[in-house]
Amino acid sequence: MWNQGIGSWPARRARKTPDRIAVVHEERRWTYRELHQRVLRLAHALRGLGTKRGDRVAYLGPNHPAFLETLFAAGALGAVFVPLNTRLAAPELAYNLSDSGSTVLVHDVGQAEAARAAAEAAGVRHRIALARSDDDDALGYEDLLTGAETGPLDETVLPEDPCLIMYTSGTTGRPKGAVLSHGNITWNSVNVLVDTDLTGDEVTLVVAPLFHSAGLNMTCLPTLLKGGRVVLLGSFDAERVLELIESRRVTCMFGVPTMYDAMAARPRWATTDLSSLRTLNCGGAPVPARTIAAYLDRGLAFSQGYGMTEASPGVLYLDKEHAAAKAGSAGVPHFFTDTRLVLPDGSYAGPSEPGEILVQGPNVMTGYWGRPEDTEAVFTDGGWLRTGDVARVDEDGYAYIVDRVKDMFVSGGENVYPAEVEGVLLTHPAVAECAVIGVPDPVWGEVGRAVVVLDSGVRADEEDLLGHLRGRLAAYKIPKSLVVTESLPRTATGKIVKSVVRDTHGD
Ligand code: ATP
Ligand code: MG
Repeated sequence: MWNQGIGSWPARRARKTPDRIAVVHEERRWTYRELHQRVLRLAHALRGLGTKRGDRVAYLGPNHPAFLETLFAAGALGAVFVPLNTRLAAPELAYNLSDSGSTVLVHDVGQAEAARAAAEAAGVRHRIALARSDDDDALGYEDLLTGAETGPLDETVLPEDPCLIMYTSGTTGRPKGAVLSHGNITWNSVNVLVDTDLTGDEVTLVVAPLFHSAGLNMTCLPTLLKGGRVVLLGSFDAERVLELIESRRVTCMFGVPTMYDAMAARPRWATTDLSSLRTLNCGGAPVPARTIAAYLDRGLAFSQGYGMTEASPGVLYLDKEHAAAKAGSAGVPHFFTDTRLVLPDGSYAGPSEPGEILVQGPNVMTGYWGRPEDTEAVFTDGGWLRTGDVARVDEDGYAYIVDRVKDMFVSGGENVYPAEVEGVLLTHPAVAECAVIGVPDPVWGEVGRAVVVLDSGVRADEEDLLGHLRGRLAAYKIPKSLVVTESLPRTATGKIVKSVVRDTHGD
């Protein structure tokens, strides 16, 4: 019996660094020894409920130590952890629960109603609530732990065994469950440890949702693998993040661009002591130039990454040493991961020519859960994963993400990548947020339309805003119309849902 999966990490850490702090949440903290003991008890409790190797154990709730404990406990049993998005409504949760065939659901009290309804609809056998109210028939999380034994589990878990079913963000359609193996998750953490200067003294603040791949895998798990400390914040709140950086002497964090923007916009930004910070990792979407500038003003460089759920998620990484020289780039492939750029006919893109990124590596998923056709469609050329993203690579091998293939449109025979246009539009002081979409046009086939949220207090009209693009972009890229709106639809990780923008503001 040998557990080679991530469920063995707390035990291995407890052997090396039992007294170091592993997890901090609000006023509580747990050492690696305590984390290991709790994971062991939870694993026994789950086994007592009938959970076996290969079964699915779902989790619903904001960032909390129980998320990590359930992940490790499921892993210790060879069961598969299924983190759910807290933004979903009960019917969507029920879909994910039955799609994944989960037999247990662990959930927070905040979500009790939705959890109860979804678990019932999906036929989930056991519901475990982090705190129990009298009128609820769920099992109590802490009760289960208290009553559980702590003997060895004796379970074999291999690197190729599934560890997680992680749902994609759903930016381009219904979220798909990527099956990530223990090996995939481990190799991603190894990539992070090889490519960054993360140490066992790290104090890593986790503010991005753990139910998305980057929140869990880009800094949180590598920190726990290395024996550092993770400070969990339930969900992102710019004011609380600034407070915690100062009070917990945070050294490292991961955030998506909208989070870093929100932090820099707070009044207390100017007075917050940021001197403990060493690593600000940013990814998941293009990082606006002005965000980079706001942090450079405070002496803080971003390390940037590009990735996707299907790759656990790290693919490209730009370290902070190259952040200034290669501004705008998402970097070079992670150490054990390879990429190539291809044209639509399958041939390789030439130097500086845009092409779709293909990825291969030990961090790339085995496939989508229960979707053989989607799995087959996403792999090409003997195992390369098609990312659906276009990039170009400079003479030093640094990649620049251009846009998603799906968001590109063709105007008068020329390809337009909306992300490029949005990047320039965002440099206008009146533009708070924007999205560019293609709309049908009798002459050009399609032309661009900008959908813009204005900064409150700054006045600008269409002529101003589109005029700002002239001379900065080729004429065919400049939108022919502009719509001002109150807000743009975004996913939980702050990505603009272009399909909804097209439905609402297209023709
Ligand atoms: P879905 O696959 O369900 O439509 P999604 O692709 O947004 O949603 P994720 O796996 O969370 O789901 O996100 C991966 C995508 O995020 C990438 O394919 C890419 O389009 C975008 N992305 C990630 N990092 C960057 C980056 N640094 N710059 C630009 N885009 C990025
Ligand atoms: Mg995707």
